[in-house]
Amino acid sequence: MKAIVAYSHQLLKDIVQHGDIVIDATCGNGNDTIFLSGLVGKFGKVYAFDIQKQAIAKTKILLEKNNINNVELIEDGHEKVTHYIVNQPIAGAIFNLGYLPNGDHSIITVPETTIHAISSMLALLKRRGRIVIVIYHGHAGGTTEKNEVLAYCEQLDQEKYQVLQYQFINQINKPPFVIAIEKTYSNLSHTLTP
Ligand code: SAH
Repeated sequence: MKAIVAYSHQLLKDIVQHGDIVIDATCGNGNDTIFLSGLVGKFGKVYAFDIQKQAIAKTKILLEKNNINNVELIEDGHEKVTHYIVNQPIAGAIFNLGYLPNGDHSIITVPETTIHAISSMLALLKRRGRIVIVIYHGHAGGTTEKNEVLAYCEQLDQEKYQVLQYQFINQINKPPFVIAIEKTYSNLSHTLTP
């Protein structure tokens, strides 16, 4: 069985193609950003958000070290995604909720902005595109965010979205788990190639 992070990557690998536009909603230490950059290739683009200078700086160094130039780093909240991405259908997005490991543990993702961002990104998503959310919830505030994000995802119209949960149910200490939303319809047909 695939571990949580490996499975979150597999879900995007299955559908993202060279030339696509994708979002890393929480770039953190930059590992998902690098992974997404490889998936979309030199004709694609990754928009990577984080509100912390430290995360943006760390990711920037990683990108430079790997000679990567298909990533736009955005030091701003992912809930403002529509300020940065207009009329560009996205193939996928990934969120890693919680705090930055080796960083300030008091800076965490919070339900209101997380859900706002998911909702905005769903509108930008191509048909068969996926939003993958890795839910870390062991920290203070984590349970509330987990519950609110789950409640939001559970009420998505089943005619428009498939929502999957991938979780090891016999692990102790609130292990992270994956939620993936796949869009099954298109509201962007005018912008897509046939
Ligand atoms: N818990 C994960 C990593 C989560 S990192 C792990 O252990 O691997 C979460 C990142 O989200 C942090 O770097 C934090 O700065 C960032 N973040 C918090 N709120 C945000 C927001 N509104 N928009 C973008 N990034 C945000």
